[in-house]
Amino acid sequence: MNFLSLIEAKREGKTLATEQIQEFTREFTAGKIPDYQMAAMLMAIYFRGLDTTETTALTLAMRDSGDVLKFPRDKRPLVDKHSTGGIGDKVSLPLAPLLACLGFRVPMISGRGLGITGGTLDKLDSIPGFQTLLPAEKIIAQVQKVGCVICGQTATMVPADKKIYALRDVSGTVPSIPLITASILSKKLAESLDALILDVKFGCAAFMQTKAEARKLAKAMVALGNECGTNTRAILTDMNTPLGRAAGNWLEVKESVECLEAGRADLLVSQATQQRGPTDLLQFVIDSAAHLLVQTHKSKSLAAARRLAEDCLNSGAPLKKWDEMIAAQGADLKSFNRKLALDSTAPAVVEVKSGKSGCISKCDARIIGEVIRDLGGGRLTKESVINYDVGVDRITKPGERVEKSGVLCRIHAVNTAQAEEMIVRLKTAFEISARRPAIVRLVHETILPPRR
Ligand code: URA
Repeated sequence: MNFLSLIEAKREGKTLATEQIQEFTREFTAGKIPDYQMAAMLMAIYFRGLDTTETTALTLAMRDSGDVLKFPRDKRPLVDKHSTGGIGDKVSLPLAPLLACLGFRVPMISGRGLGITGGTLDKLDSIPGFQTLLPAEKIIAQVQKVGCVICGQTATMVPADKKIYALRDVSGTVPSIPLITASILSKKLAESLDALILDVKFGCAAFMQTKAEARKLAKAMVALGNECGTNTRAILTDMNTPLGRAAGNWLEVKESVECLEAGRADLLVSQATQQRGPTDLLQFVIDSAAHLLVQTHKSKSLAAARRLAEDCLNSGAPLKKWDEMIAAQGADLKSFNRKLALDSTAPAVVEVKSGKSGCISKCDARIIGEVIRDLGGGRLTKESVINYDVGVDRITKPGERVEKSGVLCRIHAVNTAQAEEMIVRLKTAFEISARRPAIVRLVHETILPPRR
């Protein structure tokens, strides 16, 4: 294959044939196309785009680059959720065991951090002994037995995405609608799902900066997912503020367990106000589960589905299911619980204090994400080694009051000098005003399949 001529064709805005896309995906996965040429193709796609036929061809070629999971017949529907990525976005961690307890099977194939956004697999790697790389047979066996698994694509599962994802991360080609569509849906279609809910984020820390762009991406993914036989919906969510109060790999695992422990009615905020705060994570986990309950006809309405999901969380069963899931994937529960009991696993913890009193009117997720990456919690190159312990927690959220010298957040760093260096940058993430700002909604829109 003359790959150079395909790069040039895409650079000039020409349409590639399905066979050409299939061939270069196969050749790149087999190591026959060098990274520098594939990076050039990704950049050409970034600028020129792919039409619907090309995007479908790339998605299916990536799905078929490895094993497609085949599950035994079972009355429990196969479901999953995937997010386009954000700061503090740990929803998948509590959601998988909740869904398993609601009578679903959840074969969750997740990704690593991309750009400044955190990755589910990087978070799980901070759990002592936890294995994210599982063979297809083990994924199927665990889903059948436990009800849920969260793992990565291996050399034999969607290997094309594994290689392309890593290259996009370091070649400035992440925020592309066809590339995100193909990356997410290739993984999800390899799971043979009955239903899928997509969390498409917009805002300063999302790949899609505006709601209009996020809507375009969501519509593309919902249309393609449904065309490929998976009942797919998307929700558009705000990613100007981090989700929850913690960001950074281990700190997010800790907060996910708190979310499973905190599944109590008194902590839930009213759906009508959608007030953001300590409960935004919990609320969003419940919302995601509710959509899947409706999509699979287990509930008649979102309101009824939310009640079902809340009751399930309150029962404490999803917390037990979490332990069962991580133990099945090799986690040492004793070391895990010992680690959970620590306030911090990083060598230095420093508070960032407010210079005045007032109401938080802004908490910039992009600045927080960049700080975490620079603390060592994210990647700058493909070879970067992640530090799982660093991050930011006790984040004060918009609408909350802070007193002069009150804590805006805490930095978990490699040493005090590094933490002190980040204080100035983190302070710029927060804006404080005299008056309480208008509430910023987390969930903005639901994108349903196009009517036929
Ligand atoms: N998540 C993915 O799996 N792929 C992307 O391209 C973005 C988010």
